[in-house]
Formats: sequence, C-alpha cells, structure tokens
Amino acid sequence: MIEVVPIPQLRDNYAYLVVDPQTQKAAVIDCAEAAPVLAEIDRRRVEVVALLPTHHHYDHVGGHEDFLQVLKVEVVAYHGQRNRIPGATREVQEGDEIRIGSLLARVIFIPAHTTGHVAYYFPGAGVVFTGDTLFVAGCGRLFEGDAKTMMFSLQKLASLPDDTKVYCGHEYSQRNLEFALQLEPHNRALREKYDRVLALRARGLPTVPSTIGEEKATNPFLRWHSAELQANLRRLDPNVGHDPVKIFAKVRALKDAF
Ligand code: ZN
Ligand code: FE
Repeated sequence: MIEVVPIPQLRDNYAYLVVDPQTQKAAVIDCAEAAPVLAEIDRRRVEVVALLPTHHHYDHVGGHEDFLQVLKVEVVAYHGQRNRIPGATREVQEGDEIRIGSLLARVIFIPAHTTGHVAYYFPGAGVVFTGDTLFVAGCGRLFEGDAKTMMFSLQKLASLPDDTKVYCGHEYSQRNLEFALQLEPHNRALREKYDRVLALRARGLPTVPSTIGEEKATNPFLRWHSAELQANLRRLDPNVGHDPVKIFAKVRALKDAF
C-alpha cells in the first residue's frame, strides 16, 4: 500500500507527499515551495523522513531551505550532485534503495534533462516519480544531455511494468497531447487520452497518474517506431531518415518550437 498526494506548486509543478499508511512515515518528492507541503503534512499528521528531489532545478528543490528550517530530514542527491541540492545529506546511485517506513524507493538514473536526474521507483507499490524526464505525453528538454541519452533514460522507464503509475513534475499533459495528436492524429489511444485529460482539466483536477502502458501507447517520445508518426515527420522534413535517434531528435526539436 502507498498513498500519493499531489501538491500543486508554483505555476504548474507538482510536489508529491508519499505516505506509508502502515507507519504514517512519508517522503516528499520535488519540494518547490515549503508552505503548502508543510500544511499537507500537518493536516495528515505524517512523519516525513526524507526529501527526494528528482533534479536540481529551482522548481523542484526551491522549497528545501524553508522546509528544513521546520523539519530536519534526510535529503537525497544523486552521486556527485550534492552541491546542487540544497541541504543534501545522502548521495545515492542507480539501484540504491531508500526506506520510508515499510516502503522502498529504488533510484533509477535517467540523465539528459540534467546530468543528475533520477526517478524514484516504488516496485512494491508499482509507482514511479519521473520529474522532468517523462511527462504525460511528453519528455523534458535536453538541457544537459543529447537525444541519445534521453532515449536511453526513457527506455529505462518504459521497461517498467505496464501498470506502473507515473507521477511527473509538471502539469503539461493537455499541451503535450495536442502536440502528439499532430504527429499521430489516427492513434485511438491518444484521442481517448486527450478526451480524459480535457475532462480532468475542466474540473481543475491533476492528470496524474498516467501509467507506463498508457505512455507507450500515446507518448510521441516513446513512439519513434510508429509508422504514422514517421510518415508525418517525413512530410515535414524528407531528410529525417530511419535512425531512431534522428527521429527522436526531430520530435524533440518540433516540440521545442510548438
Ligand atoms: Zn527541470
Ligand atoms: Fe521542472
């Protein structure tokens, strides 16, 4: 069992309060603003044991200092990234496990958006927090890595079980799906996903979680094999070729300009 509470942050970010209902111990993923996170912790009377940032960007760690003034907890940073993560107390690497009560989070190293980006995967609960690497129907910008590195990172996430729930760092789903539909207008799963997302947004609700299976069926950054996507890319750029990395890079470049 696991409980995941999305907490809206800044303009379109999510922090997540992850609770082990057995012990009421908890962790916070991507604390950008301390006040709303601390309010949720008070309301639920849980004991936070760790801050788990996916990467060092301000909209994912900006709340650390204020948070740590109130609660002293472990702060995780990827190996060699301690100086980028405010309050870091523990360095982790691929495969390391972090205990939150009876829950275990496993670190998955997924660089490209930044060199130290990680996902936190809870294999027992079937939940993964993907930060700015895998979004609902999108992926993060390539600030500190190339297309090949991002593809490899996304492939690692795509290899998790299909029913794994995906919680990402931003509410970008609607816009991402509008872009995806330009490349695969006949993808049925994509159209259905877009309708579901529009209905959620109309009620002001978060569009997370997605699942790994849904992302494989709809996310253009996991669909370089799609004949329809490739045909539409070639219409825009006849030189795009058949190399998956070139196809991926083209989709990324088009999204950057969308
Ligand atoms: Zn970021
Ligand atoms: Fe971000």
